[in-house]
Amino acid sequence: MTEAASQVRRPGLSKSRISAFEQCPRRLWQQVHARERSEVDASTQMSFAAGHAVGDLACAQVEHGIMVEAEPDLQAALARTTELVAAADRPIFEATFEHEGVLVRVDILVPERSAAGLVWHIYEVKSSGSAKPYHIGDLATQYWVIANCGVAIASASIRHIDTSFVLESPGDYTGIFSDASLLSDISGIAATRDAMVEEIRQMLAGEEPVCATGKHCSAPFSCEFSGHCSSFEPAGPAWPIGELPNTGARLAEKWADADIFEIAELPEDAGLNPLHTRIKDAVRTGEVYLDAAGVRKATAEWAFPRIWLDFETIGFAIPRWVGTTPYGQVPFQFSAHVEQADGELDQIEALDLSGEDPREAIAEALSGLPGEGAVIAWNAGFERRCLRLLAEVVPCHRDALLSLAERTVDLLPVAKNNYYHRDQRGSFSIKAVLPTLLPELDYGDLQVADGGDAQLAYIEATDPDCPDERRAELAAGLIAYCERDTLAMVEIYRKLAGG
Ligand code: SF4
Repeated sequence: MTEAASQVRRPGLSKSRISAFEQCPRRLWQQVHARERSEVDASTQMSFAAGHAVGDLACAQVEHGIMVEAEPDLQAALARTTELVAAADRPIFEATFEHEGVLVRVDILVPERSAAGLVWHIYEVKSSGSAKPYHIGDLATQYWVIANCGVAIASASIRHIDTSFVLESPGDYTGIFSDASLLSDISGIAATRDAMVEEIRQMLAGEEPVCATGKHCSAPFSCEFSGHCSSFEPAGPAWPIGELPNTGARLAEKWADADIFEIAELPEDAGLNPLHTRIKDAVRTGEVYLDAAGVRKATAEWAFPRIWLDFETIGFAIPRWVGTTPYGQVPFQFSAHVEQADGELDQIEALDLSGEDPREAIAEALSGLPGEGAVIAWNAGFERRCLRLLAEVVPCHRDALLSLAERTVDLLPVAKNNYYHRDQRGSFSIKAVLPTLLPELDYGDLQVADGGDAQLAYIEATDPDCPDERRAELAAGLIAYCERDTLAMVEIYRKLAGG
């Protein structure tokens, strides 16, 4: 342990920086040297928040643990860790070690004394539902640093969320974690860390490495420097083969061997499926494909009143309400446009920002929707699942909810089979289709503009400390967004059907 306190010569590397290097040396070089920092997007903010909450809960479940604070500085944290490891009388949270200028903080470090002596167990807490391949590298870095500080390690595990957990009573999270023991997986990787750290230091001391963009830019993390790197590369194809739905990436790889990168250049005998052929024709000619008769035929059985329905949902790593699971999606809002045969539209909505379990309020509002007529959604499996979930947990509205679920039909495949505008870029999400038909209904003018925004707005609005004025502003944004989704479906349908 003496090394932990004494070697603080070259801080600046950490397990996350080593992980960035493993993804791409240029990414780490940019993280260390670049002046410009990209903004943290909504989904990253949400995953940071989930990670902190999960970390706090994991610590709360370990009795008699003691936290090593990062204040006033990491030197103090190293010294405090040295003391606590020497005492070895209780679990340590955020135990801090340093070896060869690589600093790590271990989520949970648990001592075990036996006749054979003192050993330690490492637990790295993750908010994911399983141990991911990139966690192994992180854990190996932890192990390498700690072992080199003279600490005897008996096990090293990823402590992750068990997604089969169901909250049975408020605040009782016993059993929410599961441990993946990975010591045998990390030992070999840890043995490579000396050489890797040396390689990293040499790389960081030099000029920016040149690494071509590719698949590695989005996995395991979406790289924040894609704009920077792309700016040094020749412009790619205008309509890349990779944009073809489903198998586009595989086709792009296959045709790259023949130096074919553009969708329009795919040969006649390329063996494209009907959808890809339609997309190729739209790209080549610039003409929109629309079979309005096909749309009308596919939807002829959709009875009136037609109920155009959309849900917004929230899922927490740590479930908040009894009967819910980690990451289980709970509807907190819906919008429905009810359309009569003569085209008259009524909009009905419900939004629960009380912070209490929203399912009953949402189910009750849904039960007031017409008891007949088609329920229409975009990618309808999601809405159908929400309705069935609500039917299970709010039995007094079960029949009405199951009736809605049974009457639910999907507009997405109708659009997919009968329409394509090349500006969709291979996507049939409503947000890709809408601007090609109805640019005036674009989401750009909305405060809440996508599902991620909606979830962040829900979290902020249900925070007890959220001021009333701000909560009202967020509610207005959520209502406008969800209403836009259902109105967009109605208007897209009318365009597609030639109305
Ligand atoms: S965009 Fe790709 S090539 Fe550029 S730094 Fe990131 S991972 Fe590396």
